[in-house]
Amino acid sequence: MTTSLLNRLLGTFSQRSQSRVEPLTPPVQAYVKSTAPAATPISSQELRDYPPVERWNDWTEYDPKEWPRKVARRYTLVPTVCFNCESACGLLAYVDVETLKIKKFEGNPLHPGSRGRNCAKGPATLNQVYDPDRILYPLKRAGKRGEGKWVRVSWDEALNEIAGRIRKAIIEQRQTEIIYHVGRPGHDGFMEWVLPAWGVDAHNSHTNVCSSGARCGQAMWMGLDRPSPDHANARVILLISSHLETGHYFNPHAQRIMEGKMAGAKLIVLDTRLSNTASLADEWLSPWPGSETAILLAIANYLIRTGQYNRDFVRRWVNWADYLRAEHLDLPVSFEHFEMKLQELYAQYTFEFAAQESGVSAEQIERVAKIIARCEGKLATHSWRSATSANLGGWMVARCLWFLNVLTGSIGVEGGTSANVWDKWIPRHPNMAPHPKVWNELTWPQEYPLNFYEMSILLPHFLKEGRGKVDTYFTRVYNPIWTNPDGMSWLEVLTDESKIGLHVHLSPTWSETGWFADYILPMGVGAERHDMMSQETHAGCWIAFRQPVLREAMRRLGKPVKDTRDANPGEVWEEVEFWIELSWRIDPDGKLGIRKTFESPYRPGQKITVDELYGWMFENHVPGLPEAAAKEGLTPLEYMRRYGAFEIRKGVQPTFDKPLSSAELADATIDPDTGIVYTKAPAPPSSNITPLPYFEPDPERGRPIGIKLEDGSIVAGFPTPSRRLEFYSTTLRDWGWPEYAIPTYIHSHVHPSKIDRSKNEAVLLSTFRLPTLIHTRSGNAKWLYEISHKNPVWIHTSDAERLGLRTGDLVKVITEIGYFVDRVWVTEGIRPGVIACSHHLGRWRLQEDGGGRLSTALVELKQEGQGEWRMRQIHGIRPYESDDPDTARIWWEDAGVHQNLTFAVHPDPVSGMHCWHQKVRLEPAGPNDRYGDIYVDTKRAHEVYREWLAMTRPASKVSPNGMRRPHWLLRPFRPAREAYFLPGKGKKS
Ligand code: SF4
Repeated sequence: MTTSLLNRLLGTFSQRSQSRVEPLTPPVQAYVKSTAPAATPISSQELRDYPPVERWNDWTEYDPKEWPRKVARRYTLVPTVCFNCESACGLLAYVDVETLKIKKFEGNPLHPGSRGRNCAKGPATLNQVYDPDRILYPLKRAGKRGEGKWVRVSWDEALNEIAGRIRKAIIEQRQTEIIYHVGRPGHDGFMEWVLPAWGVDAHNSHTNVCSSGARCGQAMWMGLDRPSPDHANARVILLISSHLETGHYFNPHAQRIMEGKMAGAKLIVLDTRLSNTASLADEWLSPWPGSETAILLAIANYLIRTGQYNRDFVRRWVNWADYLRAEHLDLPVSFEHFEMKLQELYAQYTFEFAAQESGVSAEQIERVAKIIARCEGKLATHSWRSATSANLGGWMVARCLWFLNVLTGSIGVEGGTSANVWDKWIPRHPNMAPHPKVWNELTWPQEYPLNFYEMSILLPHFLKEGRGKVDTYFTRVYNPIWTNPDGMSWLEVLTDESKIGLHVHLSPTWSETGWFADYILPMGVGAERHDMMSQETHAGCWIAFRQPVLREAMRRLGKPVKDTRDANPGEVWEEVEFWIELSWRIDPDGKLGIRKTFESPYRPGQKITVDELYGWMFENHVPGLPEAAAKEGLTPLEYMRRYGAFEIRKGVQPTFDKPLSSAELADATIDPDTGIVYTKAPAPPSSNITPLPYFEPDPERGRPIGIKLEDGSIVAGFPTPSRRLEFYSTTLRDWGWPEYAIPTYIHSHVHPSKIDRSKNEAVLLSTFRLPTLIHTRSGNAKWLYEISHKNPVWIHTSDAERLGLRTGDLVKVITEIGYFVDRVWVTEGIRPGVIACSHHLGRWRLQEDGGGRLSTALVELKQEGQGEWRMRQIHGIRPYESDDPDTARIWWEDAGVHQNLTFAVHPDPVSGMHCWHQKVRLEPAGPNDRYGDIYVDTKRAHEVYREWLAMTRPASKVSPNGMRRPHWLLRPFRPAREAYFLPGKGKKS
């Protein structure tokens, strides 16, 4: 925590006496006595501030519902972490010590990322806890999959059946038949602890509907796949997305973008749509989708040809010598010759060229280039989803964006952009298992040797093709039928028990995918679970502790809790305890070697408890935390339970220019040609397990640990094959994509040349988020749905006039595999020829009482012939009676339209990213079309999958060393080296 913030929080407060304090029951009296100082109601002064931290245990304030009476209530304030997006902002739960009900959530002022502030979704955690439709008990399917018949079962029954199946699969060497598919993990490092212990390569993520493109573009430069911009200190902030209002890491970034702006930074936003972010920009550029790279390269060209780039930085850190040696054997290897070539390479990207591609005027692009040229090494850039996740070749948008950071030297400096791992900390878990010796081709197929990461969207297509089957399939915080493209193909395989043997859905809420599960296991929302979180929200590094707030309140009140189920509603559990218990039951006698990972580091042979797990990590692997806790007479775990967050470091701290120590250099050798430093010393165990590229030791020289630069300094460098920033990627060159070895322009699948506007063709932007909703998880938050419940199609005035459409009219949006019918919103805030529709709405259910009534339309779903599906809304959202009187007051009907069902998969052949933009044709709706209608042909969807698959260059054809993937390249849940080899290649150990 910051000293100034603490001082402010610990400040003295005036007291008021004219209030009525409710009498306390004896146990609460005892608690209050033990947590002096005495409770006093708040004053108007305090209303402007946060409750002082020393009074969190015993806080009194007036109950607003009793107004105008002044009735004081006593609370214990428990810090936790929001789970409604990836930002991991701090929350402070107000738990009524008398009723043990949560009254509200506010921000945790001690959280270094969010600093006491939240977006609308944070406080709405309260709705999720008290949602009357939530799933409170384990349920097992009673009829056919998807029939909607369920029986309540015990946790024991569910655990024993699931554990038994997994145990059998492991014993029978069917490790690849276990798949764990997660949307938002909400924790750091936890499943990296669990799944390798089982010896499986089971992890499947949502990454390739989200960030594969951005990751790939970034990793090809520096080995590390995510940026961490220092917006607050930047001179120029360049965003390719709308994440001043949404996206990674929305609230923490928004605060700092505004701070940067208030300090004089220029805000440049590339967003085809007039988003709230674009509306606050100094320069808003609305490019034709997919042309962002052309604009970035035109800016790069301007910096290069005018000499306004950081020559020293480029000379020192870019692998220009590799480029010259490989591509210009005729030239001397000198920086001056590289500069000459650089000018030639990018001369074609003029402002006029970029204007022609993007539709943005050459004057504006030039103006923006001049602003960037004046950034003085303080260019904060960010792109997440948006163009990188929407276009064929979208990963090159991220590569070209980072090119500007390289040219301006804005990397790892104040006001510039860092790599995520420099600002993120994942403590090591106890007893971590070795890398599994298994490679799962259902998630890591040979066609995509450079993908970032699992090809999760293709699982149904692979299963349909008979590439394998799944014995036990977990879905967790994930709703692929609704979230992914081609959801009907998901539905088809989820209802086929020969393809998926057992589907276990872990979720607090009903969802379209949960409906097709065998088990639904009720898991806690953000306030009902333990997780360790750390995110690269700004120039600094922190960890935060999500904790079940009622459990912690009960602990403070001296009420015993065996596990988190004792504190949560119904039999809602938390995943940490669930996975430990499941793992224990898979290997009850320890003979499979699984159990030992889950044994207590304090009580040998005994099952680890949640307190022991986090206590051990906080004691052993968070720098500075034990000392900070000791100063307050607390254990590290007590410290985290009290404050909810710990700031490891402030400010920018890159590792690439860190000199190697004399100990590291003790037996080092230096390659005279490349300058790469090798050591034979084994790598020391690290406390931080944030994923890093891995370089296997060279048999002669050992493992690379740094680089000797031209000025003689010996530093760590970047985790790339050259230990430098890779302008020239030998990995792309050697793995089948030599034409993309340097930053270049790739035509998107929605390039203007492919769209015939005279035939009413258009590009559909389907990726934009709403600030108030978050995929499936916000479906049980009544406040959020009251704010946002429709997703009309944005259409430019000129296109609407041509089609004869006015705001509110129905339009039929025809995709390559079907269509959807939605209302239009006619606006000047979108480029002509482009339409947009938010993906955050269009939830549906198949039965009237099928759960999720706050956010779903009741629909009829019919299969008409093989692979042809029609969905029609029977009615929208309606008021209903429940324990919550607000559900009878629902005044809105609209649930939006589910567009993703009508999209085929578009996996980028390099990054694996699903390219979300759609080429569509627009028609005014006909007399038989109704709002929300959907038609899909999954046979056609499969053909489109095959067309995109044909663009790949499989490892079996291009691998230079018989491996499935470059061994150094980042890969979550990295298997052992021997598993990397293609069948018949390499040496098995
Ligand atoms: S930005 Fe909003 S939803 Fe995301 S973690 Fe912060 S408060 Fe929660």
